[in-house]
Amino acid sequence: MFDAHTHLQSPLLSGVLARVIDDAARAGVTGVCCCATVPDDWPAVAELARVRLPFVLVPAFGVHPWHVQGLPSDWPGRLAALLDAHPVAAVGEIGLDGLRDDVPADLQDEVFLRQLDIAERLRRPVILHGARAWGRLAERITPFARRLPGVVVHGFSGSAEILKQLLNVGAYVSFAGSVCNPMAAKVRAAVRDIPDSQMLIETDTPDLFPEGGVSAATGANGKPLNQPANLRRVLEEVARLRNATPEAISDLTGANARRVLL
Ligand SMILES: [Zn+2]
Repeated sequence: MFDAHTHLQSPLLSGVLARVIDDAARAGVTGVCCCATVPDDWPAVAELARVRLPFVLVPAFGVHPWHVQGLPSDWPGRLAALLDAHPVAAVGEIGLDGLRDDVPADLQDEVFLRQLDIAERLRRPVILHGARAWGRLAERITPFARRLPGVVVHGFSGSAEILKQLLNVGAYVSFAGSVCNPMAAKVRAAVRDIPDSQMLIETDTPDLFPEGGVSAATGANGKPLNQPANLRRVLEEVARLRNATPEAISDLTGANARRVLL
């Protein structure tokens, strides 16, 4: 299994990370993409990319749309230098967000565009966040998509029309633990609709704890923390929704992740 979206560098996991990594490998995780969110966590992601792990780790460096305020003025140069030092790194997690109204949309867009330019110039795939902004995200990525070596849209929960738009520009679309929620009708419909060749699965560790998962640790306000070992839950639910075997879904999403990220 390839977990297409994690934040293993999260300080919430630091006390349990060794166990989380072991349990992931034991559960059959053979690869993860580990996405930074802000310049302050770039060194932690770089460190995870450096150490020996029992699975492949693809690092991604970028600024998440929640963190576009108060950036150091030299962030674009630092990002480009870090990407130069990590030839397999992607640019992520970047994008647009409509969940948080305290982050100005125009600033999100400006930081997103800057990072798309860097990704294009350095020929790197991008890992995109579009929560509650799927339409704007699809519109923004369309002119870039053909010029980038790969586009991954993570934690997708948009409409059938937006899914089609993203698939038409060649994006890979990744599904997280919300597929396990019987109320998540749109996500579950998208899981049934997407062609084999553009589907990925993810946990979004330490977020999006799935129903029936195993908690890595207790987070703030007593919430369970997600971990890559829980990718099995997503895999099984996706397989059930598509009338396929978990092995077949694991094989095809693993091959897709390697094609776009490695
Ligand atoms: Zn994320």
